[in-house]
Amino acid sequence: MMNEYTPETLSAQARLIAKYDQTHEAIFIAHAAAWQEQVERLERPACVWVYDDSQDSWETTCDRSYCLSDGCPYENGMSYCPFCGGPLVEAAPERMFDPLA
Ligand SMILES: [Zn+2]
Repeated sequence: MMNEYTPETLSAQARLIAKYDQTHEAIFIAHAAAWQEQVERLERPACVWVYDDSQDSWETTCDRSYCLSDGCPYENGMSYCPFCGGPLVEAAPERMFDPLA
């Protein structure tokens, strides 16, 4: 009978519970690490993206170049630099996203 409590079934249950607790702890640690990463990300210096007209690309202060097929980073919903994780700041006044527009 499946639900009969014997030393064997009880120890099997104990193993299951222990496994669940380990998994739960692993998930908790993963969440804590992700949260910590977010906090560190917020404390990272801003990454300034300068639009290069001749290349039609954006040069970043973390030394990368990025080409957007349409619009500026803000118009594409980019709040953070995908390379360094710093808050993205646009430096292209003529193409600057106007939140009031
Ligand atoms: Zn960057």
